[in-house]
Amino acid sequence: MWPMRMSRLFSKTLREVPADAETEGHRLLVRSGMITPIAAGVYAYMPLGLRVLHGIQSIIREEMDREGPDGRAGQELLMSSLVPIEFYERSGRDQTMAEILFRLTDHHDREFALGPTHEEVFVEVFKRNVQSYRDLPLMLYQIATKFRDEPRPRGGLIRLRQFTMKDLYSFDADQEGLDVSYQMMFDAYVRVFERCGVPVIPVLADSGAMGGNDTHEFLYLTEIGEDRCLLCPKCGYAANAEVATFVKEPAYADEEPKPLEEIDTPGLTTIEALADHLGVPKSKTCKAVFYTASYGDEHGGARKDPVLVAIRGDMDVNESKLRNALGAIELEYMDEGAVTRAGFVAGSASAVGLENMKVVADDLVVQERNLVAGANKPDKHLLNVNHDRDWKADIVADVALAAGGMLCSNCQTPMDERRGIEMGQVFKLGVKYSEAFEAFFLDAEGQQRPAVMGSYGIGIERLLAAIVEDNRDEAGIIWPRQLAPYDVHLVGLQVEKPEVREAAETLVAELESAGLSVLYDDREESPGVKFNDADLLGMPLRVTVSPRNLDKGSVELRRRDGGENELVARDAAVDEIKARLES
Ligand SMILES: [Zn+2]
Repeated sequence: MWPMRMSRLFSKTLREVPADAETEGHRLLVRSGMITPIAAGVYAYMPLGLRVLHGIQSIIREEMDREGPDGRAGQELLMSSLVPIEFYERSGRDQTMAEILFRLTDHHDREFALGPTHEEVFVEVFKRNVQSYRDLPLMLYQIATKFRDEPRPRGGLIRLRQFTMKDLYSFDADQEGLDVSYQMMFDAYVRVFERCGVPVIPVLADSGAMGGNDTHEFLYLTEIGEDRCLLCPKCGYAANAEVATFVKEPAYADEEPKPLEEIDTPGLTTIEALADHLGVPKSKTCKAVFYTASYGDEHGGARKDPVLVAIRGDMDVNESKLRNALGAIELEYMDEGAVTRAGFVAGSASAVGLENMKVVADDLVVQERNLVAGANKPDKHLLNVNHDRDWKADIVADVALAAGGMLCSNCQTPMDERRGIEMGQVFKLGVKYSEAFEAFFLDAEGQQRPAVMGSYGIGIERLLAAIVEDNRDEAGIIWPRQLAPYDVHLVGLQVEKPEVREAAETLVAELESAGLSVLYDDREESPGVKFNDADLLGMPLRVTVSPRNLDKGSVELRRRDGGENELVARDAAVDEIKARLES
């Protein structure tokens, strides 16, 4: 292999901090020339950045190909990105994923989508190749480009519209087999993230548009994350806030119902202001939150209805639980303006006296007695509002969002709330897709049965982003050795002097022969520029060849992850460098 000479390197480091960079890691990836922005959520991957992506893919391939129980091992293949729209119509995801689906029409008016995820394609190909239980269990995967028309791409590589994903699909004869495949992939994911140098924790998650039951996501905990999770410090319970359970005990269920009373509350339109004014805790109030819910119908259209959610004033609505309770495809939160335009009294609304309105009540608020709620008149509220007597709910369900400090439902310990980025997710899909696509196999008794599926995804570029977020300092990136674009950054100072150039190039050749990869800075630049670039680009070890060191018969080494400059004898340089890289 030839060393990469910086004088010939296509990508350049930038002096300027990119103005649109949202995170430190994103700023470093652009400044170091690893990536180049093309459009919102779309990037080009430059030579050094692409080497890291290839390194991540190698680690993932090794872990997917590893053999597990009953001959399970990933088999890599490659599906098309262009997917006939009928595939997604068959699973119903042309509707449930409508918002993110890139659709296009060919010259013959045939419709396609650019695949955002490939359950449908894998199950169809599975069906054409598998007849018997003897072919199972099976694990198929690809590392391929996905397209999602994200309304809000963000954080550089964190939420992209075009990205690479490793998606694996398991096919088993029964639920027990799926449990084995799922555990095997779960363990493989733990190893992938560990080898990539990104600390993650597995948490229970929401299956969302995938369908299915059990699912975990692997969260990288960071303040810049958009996901929120709840962690129990005592029993280890860990769940995304969307699905986290917590102890829900009513506080006022034993009170005797008192007569309803209307009071003046001029200008008091928030729960905080209302509770303050009345001298009661927020838990003594009933809050009304409005949504527009969309429901799909079998003709491909959508129906939209307003919904009022009644919930205790100290809690927030969990939109994921609400969507499930309603069987809705999508929810849209109605802000104050939307509530007013829909004919409700923003700030003083409640379910009391409202007719022809779908009301969902949290299962806690219906147990409480004598709450404060809106009177549906401007500047008026009601005291002593009681469910059943004063208002009724169409649906009573747990729709409350877990938050830090709430009690763990396993062990009653207050839970911690943290933010994180989802690095990967594993799903037990069951038979949802195999039934929709009639992907059946013959069991040992000759009976037709649907394959039991799981799906398992890791976003490659997002993993790159997390690696940089977690491995950096003010000066630049600090690549973990196993994923660095090159092992050694060799800086030649005053390379215009023939003796320096010759010494540097001899050392480069020796390092390459010893199996190390070298980024060689052969540019006629000042030491300051070269050292700054070495810090920014982040190879694990910097080696400096300069006239002064050569006079002493030595070269200078400096680890990127900390430590002092040290001189080592030129003759022993290759061994010393290998030793530093391995420690
Ligand atoms: Zn606990």
